[in-house]
Amino acid sequence: MSTLLTCLSAKTESPAVIIPNETNPIIVSQQQLLAQVLSFQKKLAAVGISPKEAVGIALPNSLEFVIAFLATSLQRAICAPLNPAYKQDEFEFYFEDLKAPLVLVPKGAIAGEGEAIRAARKCDVAIAEVYWNGSEVVLEVGVHDGLRNKQPVKVETPQTDDVALILHTSGTTGRPKAVPLSHRNLCQTMANIKATYDLSPADRTLLVMPLFHVHGLLAGFLAPLMSGGSVIVPARFSASDFWSNFVIHKANWYTAVPTIHQILLKNELPSPMPNIRFIRSCSSPLSPTVHKQLETLFGAPVVEAYAMTEAAHQMTSNPLPPASRKPGSVGRPQGVELKIMDDEGNALPQGKIGEVCISGPNVTSGYIGEGIASPFTKTGYFRTGDQGYVDEEGYVFLTGRIKELINKGGEKISPIEIDNILAQHPCILEAVSFAIDDELYGQNVAVAIALREGKTLTSEELLAWFGERAAKFKLPKKVYFTDHMPKTATGKVQRRHVATAMVANEK
Ligand code: ATP
Ligand code: MG
Repeated sequence: MSTLLTCLSAKTESPAVIIPNETNPIIVSQQQLLAQVLSFQKKLAAVGISPKEAVGIALPNSLEFVIAFLATSLQRAICAPLNPAYKQDEFEFYFEDLKAPLVLVPKGAIAGEGEAIRAARKCDVAIAEVYWNGSEVVLEVGVHDGLRNKQPVKVETPQTDDVALILHTSGTTGRPKAVPLSHRNLCQTMANIKATYDLSPADRTLLVMPLFHVHGLLAGFLAPLMSGGSVIVPARFSASDFWSNFVIHKANWYTAVPTIHQILLKNELPSPMPNIRFIRSCSSPLSPTVHKQLETLFGAPVVEAYAMTEAAHQMTSNPLPPASRKPGSVGRPQGVELKIMDDEGNALPQGKIGEVCISGPNVTSGYIGEGIASPFTKTGYFRTGDQGYVDEEGYVFLTGRIKELINKGGEKISPIEIDNILAQHPCILEAVSFAIDDELYGQNVAVAIALREGKTLTSEELLAWFGERAAKFKLPKKVYFTDHMPKTATGKVQRRHVATAMVANEK
């Protein structure tokens, strides 16, 4: 079985990573990338980074991130990508949780006294600035405290079962949980994604998702790299640069969360439209309405996939044509065994709604930390916490998160179903439903609505429209209109946070 070295096994002169830049893009070939990664690994060994140690990577999407990430994993150390936008308290939490001796930050961060720097000083974590000097990535250890007692160590060779990466879940349903992922887990996902979309050296993707989450790291970066393709890596998603980067650097596919697709739909499209082989949507539900708009306007098949941190990203996906994709479904299992189970862990028959459970070489061995209940069933399946069913053709439909279902007097209402109905209203840009306390029923349905620009709509009009499309018990009891739907860094909706923000705003 392989390790992340597989990503670097193609040693041709074809571009592996392209950093767009108005005048002078940086183009790194497969050969050069391998050389750069091995050279940075030596630098990590020289400052004493040993197997099993965590290295915090608080960098934006960049060549530095890519090289530091791969080099750390080759050194048998554990990459811990951290959102550079975290506040000091968040960095402190992650540094303590990871016991990281070293954190990598961008050039100038130390002088700028950023949040990561203040946290690192408080936690006695060494800080190194990393930057591309035009020919290599420099590792400049600025504050030595955390590395005080370290001696240079030897350069290592990674093993399949080494933990290569620790990421935290998004915290959509509670506190983020630390998920260790081994080289085996990551390589299996890369192979699954390559097979699902038939990725090859002829493919080029534009990375728009952050590398500090599995979506960007695995589907947006590692899988295409391992398939011998090229990845265009701008520092962040920008609606105004998206199409110019796509066209200039000859991308032919991209993967993103629904929020990004929606932003692109609202912006001007290039003319002529480039040839797009496929568009992948993942991490949040894609409403069938947006699915259809995307296919029509972008002229490419849209495939929705289903993923989670604990599975090193992808579990299911819709297939590419000529096989049929089903809007509203997250597709079929890809390289994983999937069963729908009841609370006791018994498999349910096709068509029945229950908890989605999965098993496969990509799935984590368990969470790090105390007091977290085992996520595995008695038969060793991982409980995803998602509720859904499988149709007669094996396509999976998600109906909600078990912890987020709205329990109205015993009647379980799927918030996703409510969102999807509301998304069809021509005035509505985004709708997020959630539970509110209800004296009579225990819980009831509430919904936060963001309207399209220039549109107006009253609660009464909305409820009358909704009443014609869904059973009466699903009718929202409360409608909150908002200009700004709270989102996570990856553009995910956290119902919990939307609920808190709406209720707080009202007071
Ligand atoms: P936490 O586990 O801390 O509550 P989280 O589950 O949001 O956070 P992630 O691992 O980032 O953390 O997200 C995985 C979850 O995202 C899945 O369990 C599922 O609920 C949701 N998800 C992923 N893809 C889709 C999709 N295509 N449609 C609907 N939901 C999706
Ligand atoms: Mg989760």
